[in-house]
Amino acid sequence: MLWSLLKILVFVAIIALLALGAGFLMETTGGVQVTVAGTEYTLGPLQSVIGFMVLVGAVWLFFKLLTLLIATLKFLNGDETALSRFFDRGREKRGYQALADGLMALASGEGRLAMSKAGKAEKLLNKPELTNLLVAQAAEMTGDTKKAAETYKMLISDSATRFVGVRGVLKQKLSEGDDETALKLAEKALAIKPRHEETQDILLGLQTKSQDWTGARSTLTAKLKSGSLPREVFKRRDAILALSEAKDILSDSNSVEAQERAIEANKLSPDLVPAAAMAARAHIAKGKPKNAGRLLKKAWDAQPHPDLAHAFAELAPDETAQDRVLRFAVLAKVHPQHTETRLVMAELHIVAEDFPEARRALGDLIEQDADARAYTLMAAIERGEGASDAVVQGWLAKALSAPRGPQWVCDNCHDIHAEWTPVCSNCGSFDTLTWKASPGADVSSATGAHMLPLIVGAVEDKLRQADNEAVEADQDDVFEAVVQDAKSEGQPRST
Ligand SMILES: [Zn+2]
Repeated sequence: MLWSLLKILVFVAIIALLALGAGFLMETTGGVQVTVAGTEYTLGPLQSVIGFMVLVGAVWLFFKLLTLLIATLKFLNGDETALSRFFDRGREKRGYQALADGLMALASGEGRLAMSKAGKAEKLLNKPELTNLLVAQAAEMTGDTKKAAETYKMLISDSATRFVGVRGVLKQKLSEGDDETALKLAEKALAIKPRHEETQDILLGLQTKSQDWTGARSTLTAKLKSGSLPREVFKRRDAILALSEAKDILSDSNSVEAQERAIEANKLSPDLVPAAAMAARAHIAKGKPKNAGRLLKKAWDAQPHPDLAHAFAELAPDETAQDRVLRFAVLAKVHPQHTETRLVMAELHIVAEDFPEARRALGDLIEQDADARAYTLMAAIERGEGASDAVVQGWLAKALSAPRGPQWVCDNCHDIHAEWTPVCSNCGSFDTLTWKASPGADVSSATGAHMLPLIVGAVEDKLRQADNEAVEADQDDVFEAVVQDAKSEGQPRST
């Protein structure tokens, strides 16, 4: 009410001002002189104002006719709605409204409504690059994958929306599990947008899954260049890929190329245990045991690991057990108190039949955080020192119910791997294996403890039988077998 009154007042004021202006113009003298084709016209003040208004009207009409001409040309070129759009300006407005409604429906999870709004917007606007996107998303939401795929293909055909189309089909192929096609699409998408982080990750995942290490290395470099990967992480992952390349070549033959790759991987990431072990073996094969020893010591300094100890032993395969103990002293003094150091030294002393020294090497490990391996070694020491069967059996029983100690565990799915691999065989994630105690180990040891009475009983039965037959040697065999069994249980397999 108040608003209408205000409008009327403003209207009256404008009319009054105009009348005042016209009166003022009539009273003033002078005017505008215009010369057209040699004839001079003199316009009075009121006439010049009217003349100016006519000029403005003529310019407006000219532009209007020009847009009509353009619309007609578009119509003749096949744009069916060009003319109707020209005559019906409200149409465009309704089109954008439908598009907005469609987007809103999409955001609120109403796929079908979004689809019908998209169809309406398409008809009114004739802007497929906008409406197709909405159609594709709505089709995905309603589970109409066929329609979505068709729309993505339409998006691919337009250069402005090609990336969105390729990405859409890529996502579809990934969810279908068609990795081969997905890999090709990811490569295509990355060629359009080389710095797109999500596509880089997808491509890298697919390449590592299909063991295309060379391709994965170039994708990793692209990630580094686009700044989406810290240099430290890049170095480690590149080393893993180089190592995987080396492993692949190594499975064919011990070629020079594989050795070079292994050494390269070790240089890229000196603390990567499998790379160090493999590079050391490559150096040994090349007849450079000094280089091998140096890099093993460096890796041991970063993380003591049984694989490194195995490789270190291979430096001199024919030495005596006593010589080996002396040679390992170099490694032992790097981390003298580390569990791995103590276990390795105890093992070496047992092999050299120096049982008191082996016991000293283990030290208080048995009282503190002993695992199956430590208890098994303890059993072997007791056996070597001539302790009674009951004592040895006691240690072996403890070994069975003790935690397994560190293993290669996937950080992502906690799957345990006997051997290090670049890609987790369970969940397919890349660079997630860590050498650590498995959180699931207690479960397996629980079953172990459950089985224990049966196993010990079986051993006792066999012993009694052996006693009856009065054959000492049999007894030794049984124990040897049990010790060996527990030993191979407690020790991770070397790569
Ligand atoms: Zn995993």
